[in-house]
Amino acid sequence: MKNYYFKDVTSCEMCGIPSTNHKVMGMRLNTSQGKNPKAKIGIAVGVIRCTNCGLVYSSPQPIPKDIQDHYGTPPEEYWKAHYFEWTATYFKTQIDFVKTRINFSDGMKALDIGAGLGKAMLSFKHYGFEAYGLEPSIPFYERAIDKMGIDPERLKLGTIEDLEYDDNSFDFITFGAVVEHLYSPKLCIEKALKWLKPGGLIHIEVPSSKWLISKYMNAYFRIRGTSYVTNLSPMHVPFHLYEFDLKSFQVLGNRIGYSIDHYEYSVCEIYFIPRFLHPLLRWYMKKTNTGMQLTVYLRKNN
Ligand SMILES: [Zn+2]
Repeated sequence: MKNYYFKDVTSCEMCGIPSTNHKVMGMRLNTSQGKNPKAKIGIAVGVIRCTNCGLVYSSPQPIPKDIQDHYGTPPEEYWKAHYFEWTATYFKTQIDFVKTRINFSDGMKALDIGAGLGKAMLSFKHYGFEAYGLEPSIPFYERAIDKMGIDPERLKLGTIEDLEYDDNSFDFITFGAVVEHLYSPKLCIEKALKWLKPGGLIHIEVPSSKWLISKYMNAYFRIRGTSYVTNLSPMHVPFHLYEFDLKSFQVLGNRIGYSIDHYEYSVCEIYFIPRFLHPLLRWYMKKTNTGMQLTVYLRKNN
């Protein structure tokens, strides 16, 4: 069993409204809840929805005493040969889009927060950016340099909370799928915004708090007579601590100084639901913005 301390949450991380009247959605176990949740045992925390901005968070918030309990060294068999294959299509859609929005010129600076093996950094370089990155995991950091040929001058080892860059130094910063894993998304976005030039863009992909499938699964859990909900995974893989609404980003922008330049919802994978219903569900989720993933591009105010 991992070691946690449990932090009381008194206000919404994104909009700052006190949590007193927020909606209790149910409880989340520290393991997969499966199809017969009544047979499961474990530790559960409350799952709350902010009634102002739609952010979903856990309360109390379990924080591991050692973060390595969540993101420690992967075993040797984790590393598959294809993880180390890079092609120029990697992250190309996002790079193409950003270039049209920032009046691109060669040598503009891009930063990847949570660079992993450095594949997005390779794409940045390939498409004319000066590529920088930070990566908190030692095994990923080492492989990015040794196996992927990333310049050690350009990749820092550490967390966004601990590292520093000069103010106003990047034209584009991507968080990829990182923000839902951060204990304080507000502080981290604020920090990245400081490093970004005025008019520059931040790219973020997060789980959406309006995902249709989780609504159906929560209804199923209610029918089975439990108070469990499927949202979040604060104590097990993939360690999602938050789900976000577009409004969560809009109100945070008013607080810290950016505007939403562009957003989109993506349907992504469909789980648990019978396969023949997938085309209909895909169509419906697309139409109603209730897909699994929310992508936002934030523009720093001038
Ligand atoms: Zn809120």
